[in-house]
Amino acid sequence: MKATNPKPPMDLKELATLIIEGNRSALARAITLVESKNPHHRKQAEELLSLLMGNSGKALRIGITGVPGVGKSTTIDSFGSNLTAAGYKIAVLAVDPSSTRKGGSILGDKTRMSQLAHDKNAYIRPSPSSGTLGGVAAKTRETMLLCEAAGFDIILVETVGIGQSEITVAQMVDLFLVLMLPGAGDELQGIKKGVLEVADLIAINKADGEGDVRARKAASEYRAALNILAPRSKNWSPPVLTISGLNNLRLNELWSEILRFQETMKATGEWDQRRSEQQVAWMWSLLQDNLISTFKENQNVRDLLPNLEESVRHGHVPASAAASQLTDVFFRQIANTAI
Ligand code: GDP
Repeated sequence: MKATNPKPPMDLKELATLIIEGNRSALARAITLVESKNPHHRKQAEELLSLLMGNSGKALRIGITGVPGVGKSTTIDSFGSNLTAAGYKIAVLAVDPSSTRKGGSILGDKTRMSQLAHDKNAYIRPSPSSGTLGGVAAKTRETMLLCEAAGFDIILVETVGIGQSEITVAQMVDLFLVLMLPGAGDELQGIKKGVLEVADLIAINKADGEGDVRARKAASEYRAALNILAPRSKNWSPPVLTISGLNNLRLNELWSEILRFQETMKATGEWDQRRSEQQVAWMWSLLQDNLISTFKENQNVRDLLPNLEESVRHGHVPASAAASQLTDVFFRQIANTAI
């Protein structure tokens, strides 16, 4: 199927029914719609998401991050296969802001998850490439809702530790898992404090063979580091595990910790609270994007912006004055159109 050209005409109610029935080509078609930049498709995507609202939101949403080479795809392949073997249907999605520059994502690549790629209970979708991190995340978020409506029980959202992407993914999932290498001390120096602050679970990967001892040493150092950080939740201290994605070691322990997290958060009400907050934050972020694009399309703004930006760049006009001037001309045109 072409990435930006869902075939019209499309009966959205029929498409929604097929998605709920678990029809894979209907799901693929809906994802294509959600990823399309065409304004008409956008409206259709919004309508489709509204139709499916009652059927989405039931999955367990897990974010997974780690530096390139830590073993994300290897671990997702083994862990995901354990889950499908236990009867779950899982979807693997990706948020890769670099895909917008390199024109192709390495995350969520089927060739890197060879077991899951052939598993009928798994669905793998690479990162959309739609400009900004916000744009990529928006589409992944909507794809997650579609997958939930299609009956997937667990959604794994993969991302890399580039810029804001980890924080962005942490804000769209129920649980955020951070994979680390067994590098111990020096490794600890280099890690970003920010990622530990949003981690619900930490797993040191490659804890096999000679890596095992180093992984256990690293684990105790991370535990010590976590002790001095303010916890993300008052009800949960992030456990630090040692695993081997390659050899499928202690991935059952990882799953038990995930279930314990879910149980604890649901019992304390924090689960629902997080989701509600995420929804509202999501609405504001979409509103901000909508306003900015409406603003930039405004003729008065377009007439003024290039020269004004140039003047700000060269220090001839203060940024604050330029922002006020742009806002004024924007509202002037809105007022004129209203009359
Ligand atoms: P990603 O870039 O984070 O997705 O990492 P990959 O899953 O592609 O793994 C990078 C390399 O590390 C590959 O050569 C894997 O075979 C290897 N690797 C991944 N997980 C493990 C593990 O648990 N143990 C060992 N020894 N190697 C691993």
